[in-house]
Amino acid sequence: MAVRLAPQLLEILACPCPEHAPLRVGTPEDAQADYLTCTACGRRFPVRDGIPVLLLDEAERPPAGAPDGTGDGDPAVG
Ligand SMILES: [Zn+2]
Repeated sequence: MAVRLAPQLLEILACPCPEHAPLRVGTPEDAQADYLTCTACGRRFPVRDGIPVLLLDEAERPPAGAPDGTGDGDPAVG
């Protein structure tokens, strides 16, 4: 199920990493995943019962070799 957060909420949420970068819904591999992905460090934060868990301890590291989000070449999906 896709994460559904108010746009205003998503705007004020930030990754706890030093960059405090904004977060995106889903993961680069699965936009429907119940995660928020940091646009800087690539960590994924689980969303439980609609509540984003923005704890570094709870975050999953991005897979090795994952794009860092600076490239333009988004693969076409669907
Ligand atoms: Zn981050």
